[in-house]
Amino acid sequence: MTPSDTTPHAARYPAGSLAFPHRDLLGIGHLERHEILFLLDEAEQWVDLNRQSAKHSDALAGLTIINAFFENSTRTLLSFEIAGKRLGADVVNMHAATSSVKKGETLIDTAITLNAMRADAIVIRHGSSGATGLIADKVDCPVLNAGDGQHEHPTQALLDALALRHALRERGQQADDFTGQIIVICGDILHSRVARSNLLCLQALGATVRLCAPPALMPAGIEAMGAEVFHDFDAALQGADVIMMLRLQTERMSGQFIPSAREYHHLYGLTKTRLAQASDQTLVMHPGPMNRGVEIDSEVADMIDRSIITQQVEMGVAIRMACLDVLTRRARQVEGWGDAA
Ligand code: ASP
Repeated sequence: MTPSDTTPHAARYPAGSLAFPHRDLLGIGHLERHEILFLLDEAEQWVDLNRQSAKHSDALAGLTIINAFFENSTRTLLSFEIAGKRLGADVVNMHAATSSVKKGETLIDTAITLNAMRADAIVIRHGSSGATGLIADKVDCPVLNAGDGQHEHPTQALLDALALRHALRERGQQADDFTGQIIVICGDILHSRVARSNLLCLQALGATVRLCAPPALMPAGIEAMGAEVFHDFDAALQGADVIMMLRLQTERMSGQFIPSAREYHHLYGLTKTRLAQASDQTLVMHPGPMNRGVEIDSEVADMIDRSIITQQVEMGVAIRMACLDVLTRRARQVEGWGDAA
């Protein structure tokens, strides 16, 4: 199926649960292009709801969602919590720092415990790549990956795509995908789950993706995933429509990967002067948290007409509402969703 921007929404995807036949959302790598578009389109209704003063739906009333976060988070945890509550679910947050994980409980035992509590969806963030898949194998309900090590962060990539789609539409570009867009992702590509999920998502939606990092922070062989690889930021910026900046993931670094933050900023920091090299239209994105003055300057991050960083946060709630809604449809026996595999 190759949906185009002129296809009516109902005709873009297979009917009912076949539009999204997965029990879990573990990574963008598991998704087809039309499944990504389906989640983005589903999120639009929640963007509209979230812009009203009364932001409540009872779509998930009676369901229990557990947010199990084994790594720190601000935006992702808060937005999953808000998303679940706006959909009328009971939302419980489990923080690893205060859980039995600190007492040596294994991940599998934690999964079995969460399952016994009959959660209807479990949202997991974990420092180890693949941990969310491991938990998904042990529980009976949908599992949503809220970031696993340096592997994937699917809802971040989806919210980035939604924010970008909105920004392009505001500029009069009606396309639903990113065909023809040149998107530069610059920063610590090696340790970034955001880079990996975004590369997969943006490419699935037709964009040309340039990855830019110092050699030590670029994964070997990443070209095989279809990305254009740059070590010179100024060269990567030529003709760029969008620049997505990433934080140095120091918590995942063992050893010295950059000479100093000052030198890193000099070569890879997004300054106003550097942004001007791209074009006077280029959009700026960052998943947060930002290290101002390292990978991005404040005067760029706060540029009202170019930076869509706060829009990314806004879209995060809507995307997470869409994911929770879609993944719990089978259990809620929403018409057309009760009988899928
Ligand atoms: N918040 C994003 C993540 O959890 C990006 C970052 O931490 O740099 O991966």
